[in-house]
Amino acid sequence: MKELICICCPQGCHLMVDEENDYAVTGNSCERGAEYGRTESMAPVRVLTSTVACDGGQILRCPVKTNGAIPKEKIWEAESLLQKVSVKAPVHIGQVILADIADSGADLIATKSVEAAD
Ligand code: SF4
Repeated sequence: MKELICICCPQGCHLMVDEENDYAVTGNSCERGAEYGRTESMAPVRVLTSTVACDGGQILRCPVKTNGAIPKEKIWEAESLLQKVSVKAPVHIGQVILADIADSGADLIATKSVEAAD
């Protein structure tokens, strides 16, 4: 049995996941919790949020995130790729900064527009 706290809403239900019984979940108050418990136990995923360097912009770094959850084991590789990225201003919200980051199937996108410096 694996114990987890569901992070899908502020209620924070205490989940029990039976790994020897097809990842059956108990303790959840809704189906989202059951899905979270199964996914977190079988193949955990995370949305990566960070910033990348912004060249010639009104701010030095541009906020970014993946446009979907990526396998947890890809997070470190994705974060190391971010260290090498510098995007040129202007940047538009939703702009793809890195496609298919770390072969995860998700794109890294800008979450804020950055105007070019005067
Ligand atoms: S199981 Fe449902 S109600 Fe409980 S924390 Fe998760 S999302 Fe919220």
